[in-house]
Amino acid sequence: MAARKIVILGGGESGVGAALLAQAKGFDVFLSDKGVLSDAYRAMLQNAGILFEEGQHTEELILDAGEVVKSPGIPGTASLVQKLRAHGTPVISEIEFAARYTKAKLIGITGSNGKTTTTLLTYHLLKTSGLNVGLAGNVGESFARQVIDDAFDYFALELSSFQLDDMYDTHLDVMVLLNITPDHLDRYGYNFQNYVDSKFRILQQARPTDDFIYFAESEPILTELTRRNPVVHRLPISLKTAVEEGGYLANGQLHASYRGKTFEMQQAHTMLRGPHNGINTMAAILAAQSVGVSNEAIAEGLKTFVNAPHRLEPAGVIDGVQFINDSKATNVDSVYYALSSMDAPVIWIAGGLDKGNDYAQLDELVRLKVKALICLGVDNHKLVEYFGGKVSAISETQNIRDAIEMGRALGKPGDVVLLSPACASFDLFRNYEDRGNQFKVAVQRLSLDAHGQAHL
Ligand code: ADP
Repeated sequence: MAARKIVILGGGESGVGAALLAQAKGFDVFLSDKGVLSDAYRAMLQNAGILFEEGQHTEELILDAGEVVKSPGIPGTASLVQKLRAHGTPVISEIEFAARYTKAKLIGITGSNGKTTTTLLTYHLLKTSGLNVGLAGNVGESFARQVIDDAFDYFALELSSFQLDDMYDTHLDVMVLLNITPDHLDRYGYNFQNYVDSKFRILQQARPTDDFIYFAESEPILTELTRRNPVVHRLPISLKTAVEEGGYLANGQLHASYRGKTFEMQQAHTMLRGPHNGINTMAAILAAQSVGVSNEAIAEGLKTFVNAPHRLEPAGVIDGVQFINDSKATNVDSVYYALSSMDAPVIWIAGGLDKGNDYAQLDELVRLKVKALICLGVDNHKLVEYFGGKVSAISETQNIRDAIEMGRALGKPGDVVLLSPACASFDLFRNYEDRGNQFKVAVQRLSLDAHGQAHL
């Protein structure tokens, strides 16, 4: 076994970043990807003189590694990973590898939903306050590539459960756990507890004075906290009751108290709507307070934040009917919050690849807010059966432009047409971004048609 040989499995953003970092630190590096690399990443590896293969995993070149960095997309059950483990070869995530080479303070953010929003907002609050902060994890440029120069004092890190699964010794100074609802169960043996355990790995290196920010009305989080009783400085967030230290939202006002210092602001004065975003916003505020950002800077940052697209993103107004793109809502819980954020009657566009959805938690909101359901998927029978008799108007299509035209036809001025699918997109689209972009383009086209102008 070559102790100084590192093998990287997977040649996407995190894998190529890890390869570049490993090379910069003097390891023998070999990158192996079973699929095809993008031209940009292939060129990057070639320019750096890093050995790699694509379209296969050659075991002789992999099993002699001293350590393996695995892409989060490769399941731990893959036979190659099993073989490595049987050999006793450590298999770690890019985050774990990169964290060894930075002296920055790390803010780790996880949850089933809201990770990207909260990570981007935390990054924005620190950045606008003048701190030297990097953004990494599931968003943007890989953490590994950014620590080659180790130029940042802080990192806001978005951590998926797949990354957490291959993390062991990384110490996070601030930990955020937004919620735990069933998702990705196919990777966890269809056992929810396995997924909960994965999320709780965020606390595995917590020290007593570290800050742990969490949503206190998430049942699985509370159950686990009772069971594990971690020794850490707890900052709960509530939508129901005032908390002495932590965050709460009451009468539209955000409150965040951290070690005797309180920040308050009307949520309406921030850029994010809805109770779920109230949670995300308070989590980001508490994380910012934890690293010493002033109340003035936080207020400024909250007013200037622009969220990533496809998350309750306004897509246009046609004849008084508002169109909202929430294509990133690929599970039922995020639709719950999307509907909770709506004040107007909703024409709801949903459907796609069902990941084992249970729609029962939407019953009340659908009854109160949804006037029509447009099913947009190859196989809509589950949605049609579940909501038949619950929603008066249900229609089906496989074409997003038709869905939008139906939405406009059904909508009255003041209504909202909401794309919030509760499902993955791969039956009709390349990914959720493609679905959201097609939605936005189709709304624009319809808008131009409606106003008698030429097609785009
Ligand atoms: P992630 O990165 O965890 O997928 P995003 O910030 O991209 O999270 O948001 C994904 C979807 O989840 C969006 O549709 C959004 O409306 C919804 N969402 C965002 N924050 C929360 C939250 N705290 N709880 C539940 N749903 C949320």
